[in-house]
Amino acid sequence: MPLFICTACGTQYPESSAPPAQCVICEEERQYVPPGGQGWTTLDKLARSHMNSMREYEPGVTGIGTQPSFAIGQRAILVRTPGGNILWDCIALLDAATITAIKALGGVKAIAISHPHFYTSMGAWADAFDCPIHLHAADKDWIMRKHPRVTHWDGETLKLWDGVTLIRCGGHFPGGTVMHWAGGAGGRGIVCAGDILSVTTDRKWVSFMRSYPNFIPLSAREVTQIGDAMAPFSFETIYGHYFDRVIPAGGKEVVAKSVARYVAAIEGTRGY
Ligand SMILES: [Zn+2]
Ligand SMILES: [Zn+2]
Repeated sequence: MPLFICTACGTQYPESSAPPAQCVICEEERQYVPPGGQGWTTLDKLARSHMNSMREYEPGVTGIGTQPSFAIGQRAILVRTPGGNILWDCIALLDAATITAIKALGGVKAIAISHPHFYTSMGAWADAFDCPIHLHAADKDWIMRKHPRVTHWDGETLKLWDGVTLIRCGGHFPGGTVMHWAGGAGGRGIVCAGDILSVTTDRKWVSFMRSYPNFIPLSAREVTQIGDAMAPFSFETIYGHYFDRVIPAGGKEVVAKSVARYVAAIEGTRGY
């Protein structure tokens, strides 16, 4: 029986003879059902119309995304560290070429995902690379295809191994997570941010929303908490969730000034 994938958000559902009646992720206020109604595909079908491409950003950091764009359109990142390779975030399409290319780069030791909009077909990826998936426990109700390789972590940080830390920021989702790799950017540190710290179109700031498509803001308190969660970490580069959303330098200062700008705007203390 097929495992249907929602064409609006990329979420893969459990085996079923017919597509699900609705997509739980898209029906919720942070996503949307397209004007033409909910559509469904499968991995086999998707692999006939789309393919994945890669971009190496710096040694050890390779973006992987689907062409033409599919569903939300995010790209994942393979981060190769001395302790092992992490697949950061996930995309729906997993095909033979992608498996071969990633295995040639050393495979995947662990998958970590920022939030439920990017869970996509994570179970298929974990099976292909024989690795665990680390998800924050606060978002476990949003897993549509339960999978034995999912392991939940709780609390504010999880050190995967030396230099690689998952940081719970919350915000967009209660378990909203970013990943810090101290060895990235030539040892100055990087953050893989998903859309938890969302790199803005001008790539000079990050911003924060409960829903991006439906323009639902976060509170000053939630955004202040994101700033507090990031404060202990040093980093230069911020990788957002699209291929071109990267802040190459000054990342730590960008997060601090972006939190201040957001809080001033929402509290009405902006001063201009
Ligand atoms: Zn959906
Ligand atoms: Zn999202």
